[in-house]
Amino acid sequence: METRSSHVPDGLVLVNTGEGKGKTTAALGTALRAFGNGQKVLIFQFIKGSWKYGELEAIRRLGEGIEIRQMGDGFVKHNQDATEETIAAHRQKAEEAWQKLCEEVQSDRWDLIVLDEINYAVHFGLLSVGAVVDLIVHRPKRLNLILTGRYAAQEVIDQADTVTEMTLVKHAFQKGIRARRGIEY
Ligand code: ATP
Ligand code: MG
Repeated sequence: METRSSHVPDGLVLVNTGEGKGKTTAALGTALRAFGNGQKVLIFQFIKGSWKYGELEAIRRLGEGIEIRQMGDGFVKHNQDATEETIAAHRQKAEEAWQKLCEEVQSDRWDLIVLDEINYAVHFGLLSVGAVVDLIVHRPKRLNLILTGRYAAQEVIDQADTVTEMTLVKHAFQKGIRARRGIEY
C-alpha cells in the first residue's frame, strides 16, 4: 500500500517567455524555493554570459544542492565571417553539450532543472524544437523543468503545464537607463 509520504507527484513543466523583464529571475526564484525545500537544482545556461555575477555568486554561496553550468560554445549565434570549418566545430560542441544535458536529465539526480534561454536557442536554430520536446516527454516522471527565453515555440508551450508570458509595459532601458547592479546583474 502506498503511503502519503512515499508518493512522488509527476513533475511539472514551466515556461517563462515574452518580451518583458523577469523570465530568468522568476526561474531563479523558483530554483531558490526548490533549494529551500531540500530539492536538488541544476541550471543550464544556453546563452553564454546570460547569468551575471550577482546570481552566480549567490548560487556559489548556497553551496551543495544547486549548480549552474554553461552549455559551451556551441550555443551562440554564428558571426558573418564564420567559415564552414568553424561552424562545423560549433555544431560539434553544441551536440556534445546537448548530450551531457540529456545525460543529466536521465540520471534522475535532480528535482528541478532550469533550461535558461533555451527558447531563444531554438528560435535561432541552434537547437531543434523536436529535440527539446523529446527531452520533455522522455524525462524522469518526477522531474520539474523550467524553460525560459523569448519566442517559446508552440510545440514547447503545448507540452508545458504552466506558461507565463511577461509583457513589456515599459523598461528603464527605453529611456536610456543602462543595466543596474542588483537589478540586471
Ligand atoms: P531577467 O534576467 O532580468 O529576469 P529576462 O530573462 O526576462 O530578464 P532576457 O530577455 O533574458 O530577459 O534579457 C536579459 C537582460 O535584458 C536583463 O538584464 C533584462 O533586464 C534586460 N531586458 C529584459 N527585457 C528587456 C527589454 N524589454 N528592454 C531592455 N532590456 C530588457
Ligand atoms: Mg533571461
